[in-house]
Amino acid sequence: MPAKEAKPKNIIDSIMYQYSTSANPYEEENRILKETISRFKDELERFKASPLMVCEMREIFANNTAIIKIPNGNQFLVNISSDCDKLKPGDLVLVEQKNLTVVKKVPITRRFNIEKFVIVEKPNVLWEDIGGLNQQVQEIKEVVELPLKNPELFKRIGITPPKGVLLYGEPGTGKTLLAKAVASSTNSTFIEVVGSELVQKFIGEGAKLVKEIFEFARKKAPAIVFVDELDALAAKRMEVGTSGEREVNRTFMQLLAELDGFKPLDNVKIIGATNRKDILDQAIIRPGRLDRLINIPIPNQEARLEIFKIHTKNMNFDKKISMEALINRMEGFSGAEIKAVCTEAGYFAIRNNREFVTKEDFLKAIDKVKQEEELEGKDFMGMFG
Ligand code: ATP
Repeated sequence: MPAKEAKPKNIIDSIMYQYSTSANPYEEENRILKETISRFKDELERFKASPLMVCEMREIFANNTAIIKIPNGNQFLVNISSDCDKLKPGDLVLVEQKNLTVVKKVPITRRFNIEKFVIVEKPNVLWEDIGGLNQQVQEIKEVVELPLKNPELFKRIGITPPKGVLLYGEPGTGKTLLAKAVASSTNSTFIEVVGSELVQKFIGEGAKLVKEIFEFARKKAPAIVFVDELDALAAKRMEVGTSGEREVNRTFMQLLAELDGFKPLDNVKIIGATNRKDILDQAIIRPGRLDRLINIPIPNQEARLEIFKIHTKNMNFDKKISMEALINRMEGFSGAEIKAVCTEAGYFAIRNNREFVTKEDFLKAIDKVKQEEELEGKDFMGMFG
């Protein structure tokens, strides 16, 4: 059997190989040399070409110009090459380094690992853990729990439940607690987003993050998206002047777009919370958005007693202590402050090497929490001179 001819390993081998096998060796050699030169030329061009910079599209204007953000954070108004794909704000693009002309869209968009940016959990809060908010619990059960648990009922009756609710009231009154309780009772994924973080930590990314949070919520449905400090995003603005304000506005617009985008009977619900309902942009509470408003008040005497009982449930203390007398001294306290009283009272007992809490511990704890509240109030007033 004839020995198998060795395959050419390099260009010279290739020419020799063609030379030996071709009918007209000179023509063939010429063709191969031409092809080789052309290949080298292309390769040379590639080496000479300056790299393109990856930037982010911020705003696009009608006359083929756009504002881009370069990696160091600076922004420029630049031209868009005419053969560039359709672009939208948020896209990653390649730009020439010399004149920053946008030449190409990068086919991938940056995605967030949502679970790194927001709190995602399956909470374990029971309705019994909430004191003094019977009417609010009832309402949230109707507008969030019922449509998630029994959407068919709404279809049969022919009404659409709200897409979400807005809980408003003083800090520490139990807004987060209520949202977690409804997530527990419906076995939903609880996705917590803090409005102020969205605009401060993720500068330039807020709108994209909002979009992806809702995509994530749909994947994890049934889900409750809880937007705490909603006012940081959705405050009324007289004018949108600075780039920071424009950024907040874009994030807010995205939130509205997401709210408008899903159907009332989808199994994703949004719960907003704020201490500053007075400064909210009305757009967020328009019909079809967070149009059910639930006030979460500072607890009255009866509610304070319920909350106190919840937080002292597992405490070891003299049962002859008059809870009413203690409650009377806590006028104006929020649920969080009542809880703080119980914890502080426990610490007083520990410091005194006791394993039970006395009336005096509670009284001292009440004074301490009051003092802290007064100090906080003073600090706040101090900010305004
Ligand atoms: P913020 O506006 O500051 O976010 P919030 O209204 O969301 O406050 P929560 O975070 O729900 O308040 O409350 C803080 C803690 O205070 C709760 O984890 C709970 O222990 C206690 N608490 C508040 N309200 C109640 C309540 N009504 N019943 C029982 N515990 C309560």
